[in-house]
Amino acid sequence: MDYLELLNKSMDTAKPVLGRGTPADYIPALACADPYAFGMALATVDGEVHGVGEWRTPFSIQSISKLFTLALALAHGGSPLWQRVGREPSGNPFNSLIQLESEQGVPRNPFINAGALVVTDALLTLTGDARGAVVDLLRQESGSEGIDTDLAVAESEAAHGHRNAALAHFMASFGNLHNPVDDVLKHYFEQCSVAADCRDLAMAGCILARHGVRGDGTRLLGRGDAKRINAVLLTCGTYDAAGEFAYRVGLPGKSGVGGGILAIVPGRGAVCAWSPGLDPVGNSVGAMAALEDFTHRSDWSVF
Ligand code: GLN
Repeated sequence: MDYLELLNKSMDTAKPVLGRGTPADYIPALACADPYAFGMALATVDGEVHGVGEWRTPFSIQSISKLFTLALALAHGGSPLWQRVGREPSGNPFNSLIQLESEQGVPRNPFINAGALVVTDALLTLTGDARGAVVDLLRQESGSEGIDTDLAVAESEAAHGHRNAALAHFMASFGNLHNPVDDVLKHYFEQCSVAADCRDLAMAGCILARHGVRGDGTRLLGRGDAKRINAVLLTCGTYDAAGEFAYRVGLPGKSGVGGGILAIVPGRGAVCAWSPGLDPVGNSVGAMAALEDFTHRSDWSVF
């Protein structure tokens, strides 16, 4: 298959819609991103990598980090985690507080902010350094030693992070955070603020395409856990538009308000598309369009 030609066609399809999205502005450091920027990369399970557009431009991974924190927490033996976080779609915005009170501080799934805060808390207990664990994993899978937290973005998030602080304190009041709230928030903001490019993320996403096996052939996750993460990504990975994403793209995927979307094709590879302009739900307009085109045009699909 000529992957480069496929990626170029998907980029051409996405280009006309790029101006329809707006970069996230509730985190001021992200507001100045160029909505016309676009990149896309594909990595196969056996190590082939291709990319088009600005596929080597680092961007803020934001909620894409939630996939890696969950994988790492489960890899470190965190399966009791499922008593502290559910696996149902929330049908609500990613930063919503509304279900937490009636559901006794147990978030609906690991991919909304409340759920990710619980997973970060668990990873902090298991490793002592949740942010560091995410950065190390991304560096090792991509070989890009320069991957790191963008501290200006992390500070901007922290300065405007009232909602995340509210979610964290509220869950702590139910006993569902075990570390000090400020520590959990710091690691959460700093892992969301990691800067990486489409190539790096596609290569790291291949762990899930290889059913839990890392690029060096060692196993990070049990096959069952990899299957479960992919399943929850499909149903919950793109906020309250997970149904729309499943309909249009049809792959397990995780989006972030930096404009990236990482999609997994079990057994084949991973594809990451990025463009900072977001739709009202917070998913990248350009990345969605490109991934939709990609799965229509190729046989990279789970359906
Ligand atoms: N850091 C962002 C937040 O907490 C992540 C949200 C996202 O990418 N959906 O609001």
